[in-house]
Formats: sequence, C-alpha cells, structure tokens
Amino acid sequence: MKDMTFTLTDEQRALKAAVHDLCKQFRPEYWRELDAKREYPEAFVNALTKAGYLAALIPQEYGGPGLGILEGSLILEEINHSGGNAAACHAQMYIMGTLLRHGSEAQKKQYLPKIATGELRLQAFGVTEPNSGSDTTKLQTTAVRKGDRYAVNGQKIFISRVLQSDLMLLLARTTPVDQLKKKTDGLSVFLVDIRGIKGLEVRPLRMMMNHSTNALFFDNMEIPAETLIGEEGKGFHYILDGMNAERILVAADSLGDGRWFIEKAVAYSGQRVVFGKPIGANQGVQFPIAKAHMAVEAADLMRIKGARLFDGGEPCGPEANMAKYLAAEAAWEAANACIDCHGGYGYAEEYDVERKFREARLYKTAPINNNLILAYVGEHVLGMPRSY
Ligand SMILES: Cc1cc2nc3c(=O)[nH]c(=O)nc-3n(C[C@H](O)[C@H](O)[C@H](O)COP(=O)(O)OP(=O)(O)OC[C@H]3O[C@@H](n4cnc5c(N)ncnc54)[C@H](O)[C@@H]3O)c2cc1C
Repeated sequence: MKDMTFTLTDEQRALKAAVHDLCKQFRPEYWRELDAKREYPEAFVNALTKAGYLAALIPQEYGGPGLGILEGSLILEEINHSGGNAAACHAQMYIMGTLLRHGSEAQKKQYLPKIATGELRLQAFGVTEPNSGSDTTKLQTTAVRKGDRYAVNGQKIFISRVLQSDLMLLLARTTPVDQLKKKTDGLSVFLVDIRGIKGLEVRPLRMMMNHSTNALFFDNMEIPAETLIGEEGKGFHYILDGMNAERILVAADSLGDGRWFIEKAVAYSGQRVVFGKPIGANQGVQFPIAKAHMAVEAADLMRIKGARLFDGGEPCGPEANMAKYLAAEAAWEAANACIDCHGGYGYAEEYDVERKFREARLYKTAPINNNLILAYVGEHVLGMPRSY
C-alpha cells in the first residue's frame, strides 16, 4: 500500500473548501423550495458542471482533470455538508467507471469529452427491477439482438434522474437464464442515448425525498448495437467492478450529511435555552451528538482508507463496503441526534432538519441495503456460510 496517510493534502483541503464555497451560494431556501415541488436542482447541477467538479474522474485525455476517487468523494461530501443534496449528480461519478474501464476507445471519445463539458449528462443508471430487487442476477428486462440493433423489453423501478439525463447506463438480459452455466453471466450493459428515444415510457414516482425517481417501461425500445459496453453477457461483472467506487462515493454523501447534522445540532443546542441553560449542557442532549460525531469521524477514516486503496489500484472491496455501511449508519445516528435536540423545530420545514433527515435515511437502503453489506462482510470478508 503506497499512501496510507489519513490526512488530506493541501490540494484536497483546497478542493473541499472551493466546493463548499460554491455550494453555499445555493441557500437552504433553494433546496427547500425544490424539495416541496419535487423539482430537479438544475441551476445547482449546472453550476457544479461548469466549475468542472462533476467531471472530476474523467481522465485529462478526454477533457477532465483526471482526479481520484478520493477527490470525487470529497466533492460529494461537501455538497451534502453544505446542506445540499449530492443525489442530484453523484451517479455521474460512479456510472462513469463502467465506461472508463470497459468502454471502447470510440465510445470514450464520443462521450467523455461531452460529459466533461456538460454538453451531455449521464446521471441515469437502470438496474433495479420490480421482480428481482436486490438479486440483480434475476433481472428480466431483455435486450434481443436484431441485426445492428437490440430490442429492449421489460421494466425497471426506482430509476433516478432519467428525465434529467441524456444518457442512461442500462443493464439488461441478453441470454435467457435457462441457457446459462453461471447465473452471473447473460447480462449486458448498454450506454443508451435516451433523448427522444421511442419505446421508453418514464413514470415519475413521488418519493419520500426529492430524488427524481421513476418507473420505466420498455416496449421494443430499439438501440444501436454499438451502445453495448464491452462484451455481451459480461454486464453484471462490469457493474460489480464499479461497485467499490460507488460505495466510496455514497459513503461520502453520508459523511457530508453527518457533518451537516452535527454542526446544526451543536449550534442549536448551544443557543436554545430551556430551564435556564443551553439544552446542550444536558448530557442527554450532548452525548448523542458527541457519539454521532465519533461515528462520523471513524467512518471518514474508513472512507479515506478505501479511497486510497482504490486510487492506488489495490483491492478495496472490504473497505469500500465497510465505509458505505459505517457512513450511512453514522449519518443516521447524527440525523436522530439532530432532530431530537431540535424538539418540535426539528419537524418544521424552515429548519431543514426534517428534509436532511429524509435524505440521509436513503443511504441505509440504496443503492444497496446495509443488510447486504453485512452479508458481504460476513460471507466474503469473514468466510461465514452464505445466505444466498
Ligand atoms: C430513492 C431511490 C432511488 C433509487 N435510484 C435507483 C437508480 O437510479 N437505479 C437503480 O437501478 N436503482 C435505484 N434504486 C433502487 C435501490 O437500489 C433498491 O431499492 C435497493 O437495491 C433494494 O432493492 P429493493 O427495493 O427491491 O429491495 P429488496 O431487494 O426487495 O429488499 C427488501 C429488504 O429485504 C432485505 N433483504 C433482501 N435480501 C436479503 C438477504 N439476503 N439478507 C438480508 N436482507 C435481505 C433488504 O436488505 C431490504 O431491507 C433507488 C431506490 C430508491 C429508494
């Protein structure tokens, strides 16, 4: 392991500060209003794209700065730390890995420079289906080759940012399950230009938080054969390959949430006076906040470890998964400490606590449920018997 320091470099600290400053231009009212209307933060995503932050992971030869996953994660962390919601744009960072690692040179040249400038937006990732859920190897949406095209049929659920994206990374079945030797084969990944595409119906779902999430229906949606990424039938492996990056980036979303809750809780409990003293002087208020702070700091160390291993090209599955779990749980602990110390005000929209509370809860469930992270650690890290 080459670099295993847990402190950030001056450049990384400067990056965090710059992102934080940009995000602070988008006031709490901005996020509150969009949340109420369930609208996409276009102005915010455009500003972040213009500043080049969403292209962080794109190599220089394709027009990006070629930063590492650690820097990518610091960007997402600061969005949530500032009170915003990185869910509007985090997928671009973790989806891109599939294109970077497995896309052809022609695909990379065609898409990456345009994604880097913001001309194209890649924020949609179509995996989850109603009948397969967390068991991705059972997905049923099919892509059947017909000459120089594939015809896609089936449905997906909870697919976010489809209406705000130009491109969607789609996982579909190209070989029927009964013709497979290995259940992890037979799925393929496509990078689909969904602008005006026929055969795709998008039905927005009103979720607990502002997340631009949809049900998708494919009715003979035709896509060119050259949208296939890598080899046919290897899509599940390509997606799994990208999971470590996704885990680290999602951990960063939670770390940012956790920091926001703790700062908010410390400020409020220091200034709210009841029974003649600040409520934060009561250990019943203070200790949960202190505990949550420790949990966030510990999760941050695991995020940095996972990210440094990833950026050094070393195996990081255990660390990336543990970082995602620990950060999601720490943020949730911080969310509860924060809403508790706010009393009734925690439920009032104008304090933003209830919004961030709803947003932070997601990462215990998606993009992968924390139960499945526990199963990964139990079975793959500790070698215990498998449940599935
Ligand atoms: C707001 C939102 C946005 C999303 N955006 C996207 C997106 O853009 N693209 C996309 O593809 N998906 C997206 N998802 C889907 C998300 O990834 C799934 O909801 C998640 O993977 C779980 O799948 P499921 O909901 O079908 O739950 P299930 O798989 O039905 O699981 C339900 C419960 O059972 C538990 N469980 C299942 N199997 C086991 C087991 N073996 N051991 C222990 N517990 C188990 C789970 O942990 C969970 O608590 C989104 C979801 C939400 C809520």
